[in-house]
Amino acid sequence: MATQFVIDGLKATIEGKEILKGINLSMKGGEIHAIMGPNGTGKSTLASALMGHPKYEVTEGTATLNDEDLMEMAVDERARAGLFLAMQYPSEISGVTNSDFLRSAINARREEGSEISLIKFIRQMEGKMKELDMNPEFAHRYLNEGFSGGEKKRNEILQMMLLDPKVVILDEIDSGLDIDALKIVAQGVNAMRSEDRAFLVITHYQRLLNYVKPDFVHVMMQGRIVKSGGPELAERLEAEGYDWVKAELGIEDETVGQA
Ligand code: ADP
Ligand code: MG
Repeated sequence: MATQFVIDGLKATIEGKEILKGINLSMKGGEIHAIMGPNGTGKSTLASALMGHPKYEVTEGTATLNDEDLMEMAVDERARAGLFLAMQYPSEISGVTNSDFLRSAINARREEGSEISLIKFIRQMEGKMKELDMNPEFAHRYLNEGFSGGEKKRNEILQMMLLDPKVVILDEIDSGLDIDALKIVAQGVNAMRSEDRAFLVITHYQRLLNYVKPDFVHVMMQGRIVKSGGPELAERLEAEGYDWVKAELGIEDETVGQA
C-alpha cells in the first residue's frame, strides 16, 4: 500500500496548556511537506506529540499511517510502524555508544530472531557514515556526547538512513549547520526520497528548502496551520517575513498564547 499519513484535528496540551489547536495535514509517499513558522508557534510540539513524547498529552484527533492511528500506540510501536523524528535538540546519552544505539534501534524494529547481523550492520553503518562525510570514530563515541550541533544533526540523518522509515519528521535539522554540512544533510535527505516515504520538514528559514525542495509549504501560527501553498510560499516568507501572514489573519501575536 502506498504510504499515506493523515493528521486530523490533532490537539495537544503541555501541563494543561493547549498548544496544538487542531492540526490537519495529509501527506503521501514521495511528497515533501515543509512546516514553517516563527518561534513558539507549536512546531516542535507537533513533532513531539506525533512521536509520543510523554510530556505532551494528545487530547483530540488522530494521526494515521496507512489507516493505523499512531496516537493509540506506544512510542516504540510508532517507530515500528515507520515513524521517525529527527529532534531539534537531540539527547546525549553517556555510556551508550552511537553504534550500539543504532543497532538496538534497528533491531527493536525487527521481529525477534531476525536481528541484523553485526557484520551486515557495520557494513551498512560505515557506508552511510561515508555518505554523510562523518568521521568513522563517531561510531564509537557515546551518543551525541560532545558532538557539535552539526555533528548531532548529521547523526540524526544517519539514524534515519539506517532505520528506513515511512514517515520522516525533521525538526529544524538545518539549525546550527554551516553551508557545507547543510548540503551534506540535504543530500542525505534527497537520497532517501522514495515513493513510499513522506517527509515533514520543519524549519524556520527557507535556506534548507533550496536544497530539499518541498512539494507543499504550510505556515504554522498559534498552534494551527494557517496557510498552505507550494514552494513559492517559502520564497515569499524568506523575502518578506511573516508579518503579511499575520496581517492577512488579523493577528498580532503568532505564538501560542496562554490557554
Ligand atoms: P516552536 O517549535 O514552533 O518554536 P514549540 O512547539 O517548541 O514551538 O513551543 C510552543 C509553545 O509551547 C511555546 O509557548 C512553548 O513555551 C510551549 N512549550 C513547549 N514545550 C514546553 C514544555 N515542555 N513545557 C512548557 N511549555 C512548553
Ligand atoms: Mg521548535
